[in-house]
Amino acid sequence: MLKNDTLDQWDREAFFHPSTHLAQHARGESPNRVVKTASGVFIEDRDGNRLLDAFAGLYCVNVGYGRQEIAEAIAEQARELAYYHAYVGHGTEASITLARMILDRAPKNMSKVYFGLGGSDANETNVKLIWYYNNILGRPEKKKIISRWRGYHGSGLVTGSLTGLDLFHKKFDLPIEQVIHTEAPYYFRRDNLEQTEEQFVAHCVAELEALIEREGADTIAAFIGEPVLGTGGIVPPPAGYWPAIQTVLRKHDILLVADEVVTGFGRLGTMFGSDHYGIEPDIITIAKGLTSAYAPLSGSIVGDRVWKVLEQGTDENGPIGHGWTYSAHPIGAAAGVANLKLLDGLNLVQNAGDVGAYLNKTMAEALSDHGNVGEVRGEGMLCAVEFVKDRDGRQFFDPADKIGARVAATLLEQDKVIGRAMPQGDILGFAPPFCLSRDEADTVVAATVRAVETVL
Ligand code: PLP
Repeated sequence: MLKNDTLDQWDREAFFHPSTHLAQHARGESPNRVVKTASGVFIEDRDGNRLLDAFAGLYCVNVGYGRQEIAEAIAEQARELAYYHAYVGHGTEASITLARMILDRAPKNMSKVYFGLGGSDANETNVKLIWYYNNILGRPEKKKIISRWRGYHGSGLVTGSLTGLDLFHKKFDLPIEQVIHTEAPYYFRRDNLEQTEEQFVAHCVAELEALIEREGADTIAAFIGEPVLGTGGIVPPPAGYWPAIQTVLRKHDILLVADEVVTGFGRLGTMFGSDHYGIEPDIITIAKGLTSAYAPLSGSIVGDRVWKVLEQGTDENGPIGHGWTYSAHPIGAAAGVANLKLLDGLNLVQNAGDVGAYLNKTMAEALSDHGNVGEVRGEGMLCAVEFVKDRDGRQFFDPADKIGARVAATLLEQDKVIGRAMPQGDILGFAPPFCLSRDEADTVVAATVRAVETVL
């Protein structure tokens, strides 16, 4: 086994880490944890630290770590057939079975599953399919995509543009001009404190209508949104938001993409976030929970309305010019099949709903008296604590104070619990694996209270 010092040196010399302060890392100022093994909700590093991962990696290890059933399925697939492509009608038992299993669980009117590798490329696929769709329908001007500020949809050129967070635009010349943003349904941070939730929803709808009016409905192809805003702060929408938005989109013949990379396959206690909020999307993005991150795999679930036009397009123009070498990779597909069987067999979606509700309730009760906790919010196995300078006076911290990051670091240091400082705002997020027990939820809450009291 390599020595820790050697790994540390090679890491700083050779490894370009994503989403990392590169200069600080090179100078040795940022953490350098080498993760070695994991089981259930715990990960272990090479220094022997055992940490309760209350963010499931990047909200993706939904069935928990160390599932031998998935490891076996991957090994068996690799031995039998590690790879064959899916172009021109090829498939494997695993990829075909997984497509069937996904459609059996998806909201109604879904027609086919296109497989990719991660959430970013799946959303890239979606935008291309939407542009193709409007070209086939003879509407070449109808191309713009509306996304929300604080939305997260990936970090490619198009998907980084869809993402509504400055950090992902700054110095990358994004967003591209075909992407436009509208208001996030973030009730806690509303400008007008007099507004009820209902009035705030009406305000979000009016903002969307005004944007469509300004740009012209005949230039707008689609709207993309996460059922619950994730990376932008874990923000469930106010009641009635989705049906109201959907009515506007239908009126203007604008497609709806539900980005369910985080919410798909159970995180809200229902199989899809669309089921949870009565969303009827034209396309659904899936990734993370599809394989619980045991292998990279994503998908675009395409609804009937779009699918019919795609078929028409290939009759008119020949094969669709879109595909990745690793689309429907057999090892990812085998992991997906085993993962969905585990979700069903262990009743994990139900557990995500039950223990998630318990986590949210106990967290809210435990922090209810703290003057620097503005809000505890969540849905299913998603929970966020938002910090404010003064709850009663509604004063916010200066971002430079990095309160969320300091609380997350203290949580880790004091109690070996991993939460995530969400990239924008003073927000500590939790998104544990669905197998979290009530005792483990209690540990997360007690550790959070201690960390908050230490920092604030
Ligand atoms: N969409 C959402 C809602 C996400 O949360 C993410 C990643 O966190 C993505 C897309 C991008 O997925 P990936 O990082 O696999 O490219």
